[in-house]
Amino acid sequence: MIRRTIFAALGATVAMANPPSALAQETLPVVATFSILSDFVKNVGGDRVSITTLVGTNGDAHVYQPAPADAKKLAGAKVIFVNGFKLEGWIDRLIKASGTKASVVTATKGITPREMAEDEDRDGRKGQAHEHGVDPHAWQSIANARIYVANIRDALTAADPAGKEAYEKNAADYLAKLAAVETEVKEAIAKIPAERRRIITTHDAFGYFGAAYGFEFIAPQGVSTETEASARDVAKIIRQIRAQKIPAVFLENVSDPRLVQRISEETGAKIGGTIYSDALSGENGPASTYIDMMRHNIRELSAALTS
Ligand SMILES: [Zn+2]
Repeated sequence: MIRRTIFAALGATVAMANPPSALAQETLPVVATFSILSDFVKNVGGDRVSITTLVGTNGDAHVYQPAPADAKKLAGAKVIFVNGFKLEGWIDRLIKASGTKASVVTATKGITPREMAEDEDRDGRKGQAHEHGVDPHAWQSIANARIYVANIRDALTAADPAGKEAYEKNAADYLAKLAAVETEVKEAIAKIPAERRRIITTHDAFGYFGAAYGFEFIAPQGVSTETEASARDVAKIIRQIRAQKIPAVFLENVSDPRLVQRISEETGAKIGGTIYSDALSGENGPASTYIDMMRHNIRELSAALTS
């Protein structure tokens, strides 16, 4: 009892002698390139990290143009989290320009990428043009999200060994939440008739989702938003919608809605709503976290395809 009192008194003295900032636990400054990755880091890092996000909510990481302030953000970071798989074509130059000493962590490390071959779509059928390269949207499969979380946990532990236990606990808690969402997604898809599990989106951002949960996404634009869809691509998709009676087209939060609106008008396929592909919504939007994004997307798909 006495000891506790002395301890409390000592604590009070220290608190008065030091400014509050010196007493507060120092946080690990980290950068994440885009909002979805930032949310994973937030969940694993908790209050031990302070996160700066380069491409904000509703932003398009494919075509992002870094500002000089971004180089300063990197210079002040201890760890920089990137997606990899060529999502951030601009990041290498920015890192170099910043002179940062931070460790650069590729959050998709260990994930098998979907490779896109020209003139071959994801089902291996010939004739659907895609650009060469890998598909960066690995986060759209929750199985892959687990790998992001493990990579983030390991990287934070390496940068801040004192936080090991906290990072492990946070990661485990978050993985349990992801497992629950994964079950919801699978159950919701099981309720959509198999022949209706096929929609149009603007760019090819849902290939991992489709492969994981048994769903087909067809997009006039490739796996990046950098290249615009050609008139030929659009004409082909319009024919495909008619021939295969594809029930719905969806808008994306990061893409110009006009292309999909035009396709809807020409084919009569209804616009199912807006799904979140490459970025979270703002705080008051329907997809301000990864988990809310997955729930929102599956709600939109279910609503459009089961009615
Ligand atoms: Zn994308």
